[in-house]
Amino acid sequence: MTVTRFAPSPTGYLHIGGLRTALYSYLWAKKNEGKFLLRIEDTDLKRNSKEAAEAIEAAFKWCNFAHDGAVIYQSKRFDLYKEYVQKLLDEGKAYYCYMSREELDAMREAQQAKKERPRYDGTYRDFTGTPPEGIAPVVRIKAPQNGEKIEFTDGIKGDLSFNVDDMLDDFIIARSDGTPTYNFVVAIDDSLMGLTDVIRGDDHLSNTPKQIVVYNALGLDIPKFYHVPMILNPQGKKLSKRDGATDVMEYKEMGYFPEALLNFLIRLGWSHGDQEIFSMEEMLEHFDPKDVNASASSYNAEKLLWINAQHMKVMPSARIIEDIKHFGMDISKHPKKEVIVDALRERAKTLKEFVEMAKPILEVTQSYDEKAVKKFLNEESIAALQAYHDSFKQATKMLESSEFEAFTKAFMEENDLKLKVLAQPLRIAMVGSAVSPSIYDTMCIIGHEGLGEHIERLLKTFNP
Ligand code: GLU
Repeated sequence: MTVTRFAPSPTGYLHIGGLRTALYSYLWAKKNEGKFLLRIEDTDLKRNSKEAAEAIEAAFKWCNFAHDGAVIYQSKRFDLYKEYVQKLLDEGKAYYCYMSREELDAMREAQQAKKERPRYDGTYRDFTGTPPEGIAPVVRIKAPQNGEKIEFTDGIKGDLSFNVDDMLDDFIIARSDGTPTYNFVVAIDDSLMGLTDVIRGDDHLSNTPKQIVVYNALGLDIPKFYHVPMILNPQGKKLSKRDGATDVMEYKEMGYFPEALLNFLIRLGWSHGDQEIFSMEEMLEHFDPKDVNASASSYNAEKLLWINAQHMKVMPSARIIEDIKHFGMDISKHPKKEVIVDALRERAKTLKEFVEMAKPILEVTQSYDEKAVKKFLNEESIAALQAYHDSFKQATKMLESSEFEAFTKAFMEENDLKLKVLAQPLRIAMVGSAVSPSIYDTMCIIGHEGLGEHIERLLKTFNP
């Protein structure tokens, strides 16, 4: 059974880069009817890990995916890690190192003076003497030495080979206060949690050889690794807050659909032909981590906006009606709610824009946009609007967009008028500016009586 995981360090929010690796892990597990687990890497106890886990779960919930089983907190597993440290000590695969801070510093300086890579020199690797007094020892693992290689096949990057001389030494697995170190616990947890596939950012690639040393020393199974290249900003640097929001929940506040954000993220670094728009079902059907690009991808805010707009066009109206409540707009009881949604879904790229565009239609116009008035209201257009209003007062009550359209077109024809003369003045009357969706849909939403009142108000103001 495929088992994947998301293993964030507690930062208090879910980073969009994290959401992408979580998505990849989730999809790969679910596609294979496996499990997707959540582990909080909180060995640094200064952070509030419960809150961090809640933030992750809230973001998952918004994205409509969930992890399996209970959250695993590394901070609650110290006793277990200690057992493994002891096991390695007992088997002679790890040892106490009594080097003092000063000795370590002196060793490093001497290596640097000789232009060598700073590394632990193995002083206590085979030590059998009496330990120096007053030093609380660390525990170091015996790493392979002398030109050995650590090799593995990465699901994305292919065959990788690391020369231990270039990057490893007998690294610390337990600090002098007994707490275990990062790479040690990650390897133990990934193995004990039964992971088959570890999908994570390639900023962790240099940790993998160390973790493999731990797996091997403990005789644990090594999962398959997929190191996903980073998301960079358009300048090719690490994505930061300046490039756009990094907190997933900020995208909710900006009016994005979670479906669109996930669609955007899956495409950052993965493709399926030239398809751009994916539903969750399609992602599940097509995603395979082996198809993730081996090179970094670039964050593109315009693309996200475009993807969101595509999702808006096909989103069930009930969902839009529900989601705009978050932005303070409730149209669930409006008799023309479907017309509102369909008139605006073609124009609004985000839910926030949707609400901004809907507001002037749903609220009675309090003021008129000066520029629009200057540009479109003149003797000719006001006279035309007056005539339209006179004719409109005689008309039977209209309900549908098509009725408003038929009436208006007939009026134009009878009076030999072009829509150009009337369209913008009608918009100004209805929403206060020259910007609105289709005028007939706008009329329909405002309703027959409302439209009469709006035109009358404009005429009173500009043609008293
Ligand atoms: N805790 C690490 C992070 O937040 C991830 C470790 C891993 O995926 O192995 O970057």
